[in-house]
Amino acid sequence: MKPDSQPSRVVPVLVPMPAERPYSYSVPAGMQVGPGSIVRVPLGPRQVAGIVWDGDGGSVDPKKLRPIEEVFDCPRVTYDMRRFVDWIAEYTLSPPGMVARMLLRAPAAFDPEPWVEAIERTDAAPDRMTAARGRVLETADTGLAWTRSGLAHAAGVSSTVIDGLKAQGVFRDVMLPPRPVVAPPDPSYAAPQLMPDQERAAVTLTEKVSAGTFSVTLIDGVTGSGKTEVYFEAIAAALKNGRQVLILLPEIALTHAFLERFQDRFGAKPAEWHSDLPPRMREKVWRQVAEGQVRVVAGARSALFLPFRELGLVVVDEEHDPAYKQEDRVYYNARDMAVVRGHIGGFPVVLASATPSLESRVNALSGRYDRVALPARFAEAALPDLKAIDMRRAPPARGGFLSPVLLDETRRTLERGEQSLFFLNRRGYAPLTLCRVCGHRFQCPDCSSWLVEHRFRGQLVCHHCGHNEPRPEACPECGTLDHLVACGPGVERIAEEAVGHFPEARIIVLSSDMLGGVRRLRLELEAISKGEADIVIGTQLVAKGHNFPNMTLVGIVDADLGLANGDPRAAERTFQLLSQVTGRAGRTGKKSLGLLQTYQPEHPVMKAIVSGDAEAFYERETEERQRAGMPPFGRLAGIIVSAATRQEAESHARALRRAAPAAPDIQVLGPAEAPLALIGGRHRFRLLIHGERRSDIQKFARTLLAAAERPRGSVRVQVDIDPQSFL
Ligand code: ADP
Ligand code: ZN
Repeated sequence: MKPDSQPSRVVPVLVPMPAERPYSYSVPAGMQVGPGSIVRVPLGPRQVAGIVWDGDGGSVDPKKLRPIEEVFDCPRVTYDMRRFVDWIAEYTLSPPGMVARMLLRAPAAFDPEPWVEAIERTDAAPDRMTAARGRVLETADTGLAWTRSGLAHAAGVSSTVIDGLKAQGVFRDVMLPPRPVVAPPDPSYAAPQLMPDQERAAVTLTEKVSAGTFSVTLIDGVTGSGKTEVYFEAIAAALKNGRQVLILLPEIALTHAFLERFQDRFGAKPAEWHSDLPPRMREKVWRQVAEGQVRVVAGARSALFLPFRELGLVVVDEEHDPAYKQEDRVYYNARDMAVVRGHIGGFPVVLASATPSLESRVNALSGRYDRVALPARFAEAALPDLKAIDMRRAPPARGGFLSPVLLDETRRTLERGEQSLFFLNRRGYAPLTLCRVCGHRFQCPDCSSWLVEHRFRGQLVCHHCGHNEPRPEACPECGTLDHLVACGPGVERIAEEAVGHFPEARIIVLSSDMLGGVRRLRLELEAISKGEADIVIGTQLVAKGHNFPNMTLVGIVDADLGLANGDPRAAERTFQLLSQVTGRAGRTGKKSLGLLQTYQPEHPVMKAIVSGDAEAFYERETEERQRAGMPPFGRLAGIIVSAATRQEAESHARALRRAAPAAPDIQVLGPAEAPLALIGGRHRFRLLIHGERRSDIQKFARTLLAAAERPRGSVRVQVDIDPQSFL
């Protein structure tokens, strides 16, 4: 190092761009920055927020060096969080800047929240009293400060009354610190009386929290066995130890009931974090997490990137849920990254599921994770009796999809005044529309997929890119009028069929594309819980965590649906989804029934579900994966090449294949045209890297990408480590 160099004057700053490493900036004299400071820096013609990173600033031509413009008045991003960003970047082969970007999603929160203008009572008395003034003074008699409009509202007067009193010196202006988004949770607010099994599980977890070291525990128990109740005790322990807690949920926008339940236990709601939060709220939550005011967050996967300062526990509920996988820019699995976060932070991670992922089960059986099992349902609640309906023997009426066996059971359930659920994981009315005269099929112009008819909206919709068009009267190919037919069922069509059979019943359709969005869904879910519907027809939305006390019949319209694709996890997914859905029934002790409509009742997945023998299913599935060297017994990475033309995509994919290094334990499959060969006008090819359990597939992929020519023109390459989707 040259004697006159001043290393502290140049620092690396990670900016939210696809940058492979931090850029160097100079620190103006007098500016206080260190690793983790959030700063504003010039980047080309723009100004962006970045994070001062670790290490030195590197050697840059001093003349090219630009200064940091501003240090935000914001708690620094912790050392652990910076290591977490580095780790994810390394593991997923993403530019660290793109990972940091997920942490910098609430830019307005980098400045402190403004104090709030308020008024408080003085000793002065008003010159004369009116009824309105009397109400104001009575209301304000608490000695606390009020906002002007808050006081007016509480006293039921117009704010001019307040202004009048202020003019006379009865109130004076004060500034109040920003209000917390949620009250602090109280770990002792309403501790439950646990059952012996639950108690044992809770003790195991609280001991881990007290130990304050890294561990992973899988809570494995049927729906309704009290997993939530048990991990609440771990949360209470972490709160008592002064730590913050993160609860990850797969479908947070719909888990209103969860927030209320948390409130019943802890006397206050957790802060929410998901994409439907209003921007102002996001900023407040972000800031208050950073400052430590918010102690518990319940959030979607992106909550992993909140700037916790003293995180001491992460709970991943429904850990098997595919929604934890992000497939956009940075491809990561939030469940796996939660484990990494716990490892870096040195604290426990809890995974909960009634149908754990095979990965987690294998980790638990091999001793890498601990496992606590909750075998029974709480109180007298019994799991539903499950039966397969062999659709070859009891076929639906012509043009219908509901077997007479299911219809009979539904009738009986209606007569008892109880609820039925028909589950079909397909939105819309029909997955395919064709012309009966010429055979024309309606396809998305930009994707290789059929357009799905949505009859309520009168549209044909692409479920991959959102393209939509009105459903025409005549075939665009041959011009024949009124000869278009809908093929196959979606939930709307099942609803139509149900109305035909049960015209008196109150029927609700639930799917994520319903008009009215999340708000309406919440209302509908509440209505169902209160018994205000007789038949519910829904997609996987209904599978997740809701409590419908009066639901005693679940009919799976097409139990075979998930088995028919080339996904190595197809059997596992079907098993999990169907178990979750049938688990909706019978949560209050009433006798309940789950019926699976299937054309292959002898399929091992169907048999496993119907027998209720989850162990047998997992054992068989584990053997199968082991034999094929599939995860967790082998490793996979997908490489997706897309381009504006098929030819460009294919030739780049081939070039990547040729660039693959030799490795005895790793092979490259493909390239092959992706099952979804066209999405949004882009042509897609896939390569699959398949390695042994201990293979370094990241290193392999990195070497391959470095050896190949850089993508040119419209070509884009996306790496997907541990892929969940193969489409
Ligand atoms: P899971 O998370 O495994 O589906 P929950 O924790 O939601 O199970 O429990 C199912 C139902 O039983 C909930 O309504 C819950 O409040 C109730 N419950 C479970 N254990 C207890 C307990 N020890 N005391 C009171 N209620 C309980
Ligand atoms: Zn499309």
